Order: sequence, then C-alpha cells, then structure tokens
Amino acid sequence: MTSDVAVIGAGPAGAAISAILSQNGFSVTVLEKNLFPRFSIGESLLPQCMEFLEEAGLLSAVNPDSFQIKKGALFARGDQKSKIDFSEKFTSGPSETWQVTRAEFDQSLINKSVEYGTEVIFNAEVKEIDFNPSSVQVSFLADGTEKKLETKFLVDASGGAMVLPRLLNSVSKPKLSKVSLFRHFKVDSRNLEESENILISINPNNKKIWYWGIPLKDGNISVGVVTDEKTLSSYNGSTSEQFDKLISEEPNLFKRLHIASPMRETAKIQAYEAKVKKLYGDKFLLIGNAGGFIDPIFSSGITVALKSAVSGSKEILKLLKGQKPDWKAYCDEMNVGNKTFKAYVDSWYEGTLQNIILMEGKDPDIQKKINSILAGYVWDQRNTFVKEPKRKLKQVSSLIERFPAL
Ligand code: FAD
Repeated sequence: MTSDVAVIGAGPAGAAISAILSQNGFSVTVLEKNLFPRFSIGESLLPQCMEFLEEAGLLSAVNPDSFQIKKGALFARGDQKSKIDFSEKFTSGPSETWQVTRAEFDQSLINKSVEYGTEVIFNAEVKEIDFNPSSVQVSFLADGTEKKLETKFLVDASGGAMVLPRLLNSVSKPKLSKVSLFRHFKVDSRNLEESENILISINPNNKKIWYWGIPLKDGNISVGVVTDEKTLSSYNGSTSEQFDKLISEEPNLFKRLHIASPMRETAKIQAYEAKVKKLYGDKFLLIGNAGGFIDPIFSSGITVALKSAVSGSKEILKLLKGQKPDWKAYCDEMNVGNKTFKAYVDSWYEGTLQNIILMEGKDPDIQKKINSILAGYVWDQRNTFVKEPKRKLKQVSSLIERFPAL
C-alpha cells in the first residue's frame, strides 16, 4: 500500500489537510482509529474558522440547516454580564459561525475530502512509524490485522492521542492538569439570545472554575465545567455528583438547567493540555491538537486545527513539487495565534481578563479589538491586542483599576 501523503486521524485537521492535498492532485490516505460518526467534545466554532474551511474547500460541505448559528458570546459571573457581539470587531471577515454536533460536522468534512479523492480507512489504528531514508512506513491495525502503508510524507492529525510525538517522546504536560466534566441536556425552551450565543460563566466564588453552555440545533445544550484536578478533588462523590454540585453553584446555568433533562451520562476528560518539542521533521508535520493544545476557554481548538492544516499544506505542497519547504514559516505562523491565545488564557485564569471582559463601558476601540480575538482573529497583527497581547492586557487592566468606570 503506498500514497504520497499519509494522515493519521480524520478529525477537522486531518479532513482539511487531506482535502487540500487531494485537490492538488496528490494521493492521500487517512488512517482513522474510530468508525465515524463518533462523538467528540469541542462543539463551538469561531467565525475566523469559516475562512479556513473555505480555503480548504470544505465550507460547502457543511449543511447550515444542521447546525445552530452562533453570533457571539455571553460572559457571566453572578449578576455581572457582558455580551460579545462578533459583528462588532476590529478585523474584517465572517462574524457568524456555528455550534455543531461534532459527530455530524466531522463526518461531513471527511466525506468532502473523500469526494476530492482522499482514501480514508476507518477502524485503522496507527501503531508504529519507521522513518527510512526515502520514505516513511506506517504500521496500523485494521480489522485485527497488521497492515503497512509506505508514504513520502506523514501528517500527524491524531488530536490528543499525539501518536507521533508520543513515539518520539516529545510531549510535555503541565504539572497541575485541568479537568472537564460535561453533559448534554434537553431544554424545553430557550430564547434567541440564549440560542445564538455561547454562555461562558465563572463560578461566583472561585475564578478557577468556569462553565460553558453551548446551545445546539436539536434543542439540546452542551454543558461543561472546567477546573483543575486539585479544585475538583474538593468536591466529593461520583463524577455526576461532582458535576451537579458544581452546576448548582453557578446561578446562570442552573436557572437554565433546572427544567432540563439530562441526555447522556456525565463525561470526564482530563490532562488534555500538552506541548511538543518540535512540530516538523524532514518527513513529518504535526497539525491540530497533535501539535499541542492550550485550553478550551476560548473555543479555539478547531480554528487552530484548521489554520494549521491550511498553513501546513502550503509547505507540504512545496516539498511534493520538489521545492524547499519553509517549516520555520509554518511554526512562526502558528506561534502568532498560539501566543495570543496563550496570553489570553493565562490572563483569564489570573482573573485579569475576566474583569476586563465583564467591565462595563469599555472604550469601543478596545472592545472591538478584544472581540476580534474572541472571534478567533488571532493572526491579524494589525490588531495591537494580537501584536502585543500581554502588554495590552496589562495596560487595560491597570486603566480599569485606576478608572473603574472605563
Ligand atoms: P481530533 O478532532 O481529536 O481528531 C483526531 C482523530 O485522530 C480522532 O478522530 C481520533 O480517533 C484519531 N486518532 C487518534 N489516535 C489515532 C491512531 N493511533 N490511529 C489513527 N487515528 C487516530 N474546540 C473548539 O473549537 N471549540 C470548543 O468549544 C471546544 N471545546 C473543548 C472542550 C474541551 C473540554 C476540550 C478538551 C477541548 C475542546 N475543544 C474545543 C478542542 C477541540 O475538541 C479540538 O481542538 C479539536 O477536536 C482538534 O481537532 P483535531 O483534528 O486536531 O483532532
């Protein structure tokens, strides 16, 4: 079995990169461990990712009637509320996107890639990778049988499994890991504002606990809570009991959920933050979560995954056409967005960004620049909040301290 490029994983990153390479006439084989459709967490998209879907030729694959329109975000801490409207942003580009059931969304993306000529083998778990002087040999288990694929280039898009980084021993994890508990609920009714905005709320007594409420098209709402392992361990009981206690402490979500029926068991995912030493080698590239994951607070995962597929494909195409790829350019490009999101995530957990977002009456120029980041436009270096994220956040924070009514 041979192909120009082998891709591990058929999630959004794998679907996008395989679609681009196939449209350029190269043979691509995607090896996917699971059978699709399969459940995945990560249901809220950012407007910026619509441009990446378009660039990958995947936007037309998404049936807009299947998914809930998302126009912004509602942040809340007790009685303090702040609505972010994505149409009021600094960077031009789409200001709407969707909240999706990932089983359906991921399936439509990979189906489109198959239409472009990609071969996908489901139920195929990659086990070993051998780099030879002129090729890469990928060994995988399919239907209980070990098989091999010979390829010129390997893309690892295996998400949190980080198949290649683990084999290369290049993964590092933070000491205090985060944990998330989540569940779907059926709600009886909701208004337009509740439907079209993700709810992100903060535990009124502990800034290290935050919640999401993601309304979905089918009338369900995806509800999750994120904190660190140490904080969670102070809540006794089973995962479901811990979840119920945490929800009961957040009045905004609790109000919505006390008339809702749970649709599935409470799930738990932990230790998902990770960094890798190197994103590329002569014959491989890491994209999406296989190249690292910061934190889900700003719903950035799929946007970053798609961006890495679009940018990474440009360098792989150079290589396949006999030109010299510029892997450093790929890393630098990814670093711009990741550095910005990281600065915002750090500031969120310190509490500074929580205060900035919830502060009323901000300067409209500052508000638009922050809205751009929250809509995923973290590669627009004309935005000073992208160019110098830490300095700008510090500046706004000190202004708020001095002039609380800013
Ligand atoms: P994935 O979507 O994980 O796809 C990887 C694929 O690789 C999988 O299908 C897997 O089966 C396959 N695979 C794994 N191992 C192997 C193997 N050995 N062989 C073959 N195939 C393999 N992102 C958002 O954009 N919005 C959100 O609201 C959001 N919320 C989140 C909440 C939480 C609690 C967490 C932890 C993450 C959240 N994310 C969110 C992040 C988002 O889920 C990911 O960033 C996104 O799925 C990454 O896409 P990917 O294609 O890189 O990987």
